[in-house]
Amino acid sequence: MDELYILEQLIKHKENDLHDSLSRGLANENTSYHLVELIISMSRYVNDIRYCSKIKCSCSPEHDISIHYNRIKEYIQSTKGALFPIPYRGIEKIIEER
Ligand SMILES: [Zn+2]
Repeated sequence: MDELYILEQLIKHKENDLHDSLSRGLANENTSYHLVELIISMSRYVNDIRYCSKIKCSCSPEHDISIHYNRIKEYIQSTKGALFPIPYRGIEKIIEER
């Protein structure tokens, strides 16, 4: 899966679907926080913005993607019916390849 597409869907979901999810009680401030952090981590991944070359290192974007994705996994996996669904299998593939 194209990583840029995952990033695009994450940003579009944040800007178009999250407000609705918050008002319907499907998401909370914690969800917003981790979604924004996931967008930052995914941006680092796509643009190869790194502090060291070790993928398993705790400073890697893959590490951060894993942390933030796992905190809001249930929410992300429930976005199939959203205007901009989050392609979570692509995110899981990045985490598994770590
Ligand atoms: Zn490192």
